[in-house]
Amino acid sequence: MLQTFFLFLIMEKLSIAIQKSGRLSEQSLELLEESGIKLANGNRKLLSAARNFPLEAVFLRDDDIPQYVFDKVTDVGIVGENVVKEKGHELQIIERLGFARCRLSIALPKGETYSGIGDLDGKRIATSYPEILGTYLHENHLDCEIHEISGSVEIAPGIGLADAIFDIVSTGSTLISNGLREVEVVMQSEAVLVANKELSIPVRQILDKLIFRIRAVQKSKNNKYILLNAPNEKLDDIAAILPGMKSPTIMPLAEEGWSSVHSVLNENDFWDVIDKLQEHGAQGILVVPIEKMIT
Ligand code: ATP
Ligand code: ZN
Repeated sequence: MLQTFFLFLIMEKLSIAIQKSGRLSEQSLELLEESGIKLANGNRKLLSAARNFPLEAVFLRDDDIPQYVFDKVTDVGIVGENVVKEKGHELQIIERLGFARCRLSIALPKGETYSGIGDLDGKRIATSYPEILGTYLHENHLDCEIHEISGSVEIAPGIGLADAIFDIVSTGSTLISNGLREVEVVMQSEAVLVANKELSIPVRQILDKLIFRIRAVQKSKNNKYILLNAPNEKLDDIAAILPGMKSPTIMPLAEEGWSSVHSVLNENDFWDVIDKLQEHGAQGILVVPIEKMIT
């Protein structure tokens, strides 16, 4: 009985849906790789089992991923938050992954005056995201005509199909080249790891392992390892600027009166901290990437 149970545990796998080809594909695979998961055939057949982790990747169109995860065809998936919201399935967002960042915005032809959201009332808006747009218009008591189109939304006003568009924006250059101007940002989006809400205990345990690894990778990307030399009389000031994971490591240098200080720095405070360190007499500052970070 117990043996059967262990056999069951050994055979259990986590299946993960990944975009077959598109903006999410490369970075989704990279994240698995950085998490130490090696897929048997990296050439994206429909299915690919990991060689060293109980995981199976299933390559799908990104638009289908929320439905597949909801129907438990796969246990989890990596997909844009915008697609998750548009499809409206009850899924658990496990982790925001920090790539494929974009926003979904309403844009008007650039010559048109715009003084506020009320100016959108009565307009025909073209989009591939009718649900997100519909909810937004409803919340803002706007009565617009939504034209659902599946691609090249940005050309709709130019060909007289719509008065405005609601679409993905990242740098805004597509809007500019189509003579459009972003007027309202409706949502921010990035790639997310989503899961079915009712996973079995063994699958959930495998997922927890994957999450642990993903978080270690994410943290390492947001942090840098810093080494510097400082005169001993400045060490208290420098330690206060550099809290590190617990507190900085301080080691004496061969040269009398000087120490080497090692710590971890968050990317967000990076330049501020470097400026302060220099003001407090730090020298020979080295900053190196961290491959994994487990706290
Ligand atoms: P299709 O399904 O027809 O291949 P798509 O727009 O759904 O097209 P991609 O272009 O690969 O697929 O985009 C996948 C996801 O990447 C989008 O749902 C969105 O979350 C994000 N994304 C899209 N465009 C950008 C962009 N310009 N910059 C950053 N992220 C983007
Ligand atoms: Zn898609």
